[in-house]
Amino acid sequence: MSNMKIETKCVQSGYTPGNGEPRQIPIIQSTTFKYATSEAMGQLFDLEASGYFYSRLQNPTCDYVAAKICDLEGGTAAMLTSSGQAANFFAVFNIAGNGDHVVSTSAIYGGTYNLFAVTMKRMGVEFTFVSPDCTEEELNAAFRPNTKAVFGETIANPALAIFDFEKFSKAAHAHGVPLIVDNTFATPVNCRPFEHGADIVTHSTTKYMDGHGAAVGGCIVDSGKFDWLAHADKFPGLCTPDDSYHGITYAEKFGLAGAYITKATAQLMRDFGCTPAPQSAFLLNLGLESLHVRMARHCENGQAVAEYLQQHDKIAWVNYAGLPGNKYYDLAQKYLPQGTCGVVSFGVKGGRKAAEKFMAALKLCAIETHVADARTCCLHPASATHRQMNEEELIAAGVPGDLVRLSCGLESKDDLIADLAQALEQV
Ligand SMILES: *Cc1c(COP(=O)(O)O)cnc(C)c1O
Repeated sequence: MSNMKIETKCVQSGYTPGNGEPRQIPIIQSTTFKYATSEAMGQLFDLEASGYFYSRLQNPTCDYVAAKICDLEGGTAAMLTSSGQAANFFAVFNIAGNGDHVVSTSAIYGGTYNLFAVTMKRMGVEFTFVSPDCTEEELNAAFRPNTKAVFGETIANPALAIFDFEKFSKAAHAHGVPLIVDNTFATPVNCRPFEHGADIVTHSTTKYMDGHGAAVGGCIVDSGKFDWLAHADKFPGLCTPDDSYHGITYAEKFGLAGAYITKATAQLMRDFGCTPAPQSAFLLNLGLESLHVRMARHCENGQAVAEYLQQHDKIAWVNYAGLPGNKYYDLAQKYLPQGTCGVVSFGVKGGRKAAEKFMAALKLCAIETHVADARTCCLHPASATHRQMNEEELIAAGVPGDLVRLSCGLESKDDLIADLAQALEQV
């Protein structure tokens, strides 16, 4: 499918039934797989032959869906994980361990920030966080001799900053390390990071890809473009023999196209087991089949709601990169010309109290911590996810007391705007 349009890939890629086989992806609900001889199975364990032996490492249903996402992103290899958290952890830990260092933008998902700044720090991986708006000099100054990767999000959740691919990929490659980009909010329908210099892409498939709030999941895709062997001293895990696999050197045995994902499967999935259930992969695929249709509507609703709020006299400010005048408008036009996503954030005049009153008055928009699914939902971080913080801490974290985050679903934009209008009337 690699030469087809993205719409066709959403529907068709990943699984092609043979004669008389099921039209829909089969759910292979089996932990294990049978072989005729021990020799045949031994070859799988030696990575001499490809095939399935235990669903903790690989399962055919999950692989069909990984192959679809791989094709959507234009990559060479991909794997599903049990969550977006697992995807970002594996993506970094596959190439950075104890004693290593990673440069990340500070505009990232809170869960990822915690994973990097607290949990991976305890594992000996150090992170330097730079502003998404940093200068090239500031960015280059963040690198150290032991830096192994650069990390960012195409559209930051929840800051909604748009990633400057050119600036970050140039710096990463000048220092001989890959650029890892979390493409969750944009999805490959709106942006394909490999076309802009990224080397590895991650997803929380829990969001728009699943799109119906049905299954938590993640995915990692490799572009196959980063030349590990050209920087062999930095990436011994890929460029020197793996003792736990009889001395295989991944970059030599599987080439640039397959080395990174094979290593992540053979080592990290084997040892950590963050594998999705085949049933969850099946549900994810149902979401992917309509991703291109849904993203267009999420963006249409996001744009309409942002424009409505911007002219409302009870609204202090609106943050949506599709609005001319937004700090990230030009980057959005450059990298996401078809639209960004359905998530809009804004401030209600009157601060925290007014925002709380507004939230309580909403009827159609539900209060949830989730984002990016079919049903519109909203969150007032100051009274929910960030409620331990005082007013100053909230401002430092980029979530002032008046901030409301609205994730526009697939309903009629007229009904969404009517709900916002009646709630604002009560403030
Ligand atoms: C939600 C989210 C994650 C974490 O994904 P889970 O599936 O919840 O583990 C990572 N990155 C981004 C951008 C997200 O929005």
